[in-house]
Amino acid sequence: MEKKISQKTEKKADGCQLSQKCGGCTYQGMTYEKQCKLKQRRTEELLGGFCKVQPIIRMENPYHYRNKVHAVFDRDRKGKPVSGIYQEGTHRVVPVDTCMIEDEKSDAIIVTIRNLLPSFKIKVYDEDTGYGLLRHVLVRRSFSNGQIMVVLVTASPVFPSKNNFVKALLKEHPEITTVIQNVNGRNTSMVLGQKENVLYGKGYIEDTLCGCVFRISSKSFYQINPVQTEKLYAKAIELADLKGTENVLDAYCGIGTIGLIAAAHCRQVAGVELNPDAVKDAVNNRNRNKVENARFFRGDAGEFMVGLANDGQKLDVVFMDPPRSGSTEEFIDAVEQTGAKRVVYISCNPETLARDLQYFEKKGYQAGEAWPVDMFPWTDSIEAVTVLNRKK
Ligand code: SAH
Repeated sequence: MEKKISQKTEKKADGCQLSQKCGGCTYQGMTYEKQCKLKQRRTEELLGGFCKVQPIIRMENPYHYRNKVHAVFDRDRKGKPVSGIYQEGTHRVVPVDTCMIEDEKSDAIIVTIRNLLPSFKIKVYDEDTGYGLLRHVLVRRSFSNGQIMVVLVTASPVFPSKNNFVKALLKEHPEITTVIQNVNGRNTSMVLGQKENVLYGKGYIEDTLCGCVFRISSKSFYQINPVQTEKLYAKAIELADLKGTENVLDAYCGIGTIGLIAAAHCRQVAGVELNPDAVKDAVNNRNRNKVENARFFRGDAGEFMVGLANDGQKLDVVFMDPPRSGSTEEFIDAVEQTGAKRVVYISCNPETLARDLQYFEKKGYQAGEAWPVDMFPWTDSIEAVTVLNRKK
């Protein structure tokens, strides 16, 4: 089996014509085997001094894994619409019709949108003059149930012939379940603006992970590789070694995924998250899955934790999954004060993970083992989950 995969990988590794310009897949031209070896070695360099690093959890079929595809819209020299991604470090758009790591259906929808623009006289936005309407398109697809969300990011709220445009899009892709107009009039590198109009469907999609159903809205963080996410979460739950009696915190909880999956294995869960849209999704997900022992709070994880510690609240297990910048000493100090005996730390940046492990050690926590999980094949990004136990 292993051999088959690596042969296929070698054949396809040179298959991307865009990799030089796009810069997204820094591991292009490398076998999957080699990619995993490099990630293993890097994780060992960073975390090996704290604990044993287990073999990387690989992806069986490391193609088209991205369930979220983003395309920026521009015009070529002749004025024809193009869609793709920014060339690394520039504001030039590299046209992309297909990509070996993106969902194929989502890519096809983006091409259809581009082809429909002229007949609806929809102009793409020009960053320099501020003229034109369509800036970006974002497509999210559930791999578990096929639901598809299309987000059309426009420079102005006025979208002439939007209903007919959506009708034409749905005619080509009846599998789309919701279409949203997001208005971003600012001159910014952020893709999404604040204001949204739902043009078709419910305005969100649902996806199933580890047996729980999750509502995903356009602005919430959601893991982009669901196949590997299930393995990551399952490993995190296993490492937490819950017996059913614990008081658990899910910090940096996003739409509540880890906490809601853990809820079945412990007494109660509290989740904390900064993004208000994600917290709303988390509360809906709690109700949708009828999880009665979970609650979600909006706030900064560090401040929230300090609040708990100052109130004298006790925790048994903490899951934490901070952004690339990692966590804070304030947060870790408060974890220690709540008496938590175990911490399961999920990280998308092993460098900040190593920094935080060092501080955890100072506070009396010993890293048990670390598992790299390959969430982003063909790129150099490393995801890892680590368990820390409080020293007796
Ligand atoms: N555990 C979730 C989300 C992980 S991504 C999942 O697996 O899907 C990290 C999350 O941390 C994002 O949702 C982001 O909005 C949130 N976040 C970033 N800084 C934060 C802070 N200071 N306090 C709380 N949450 C924060």
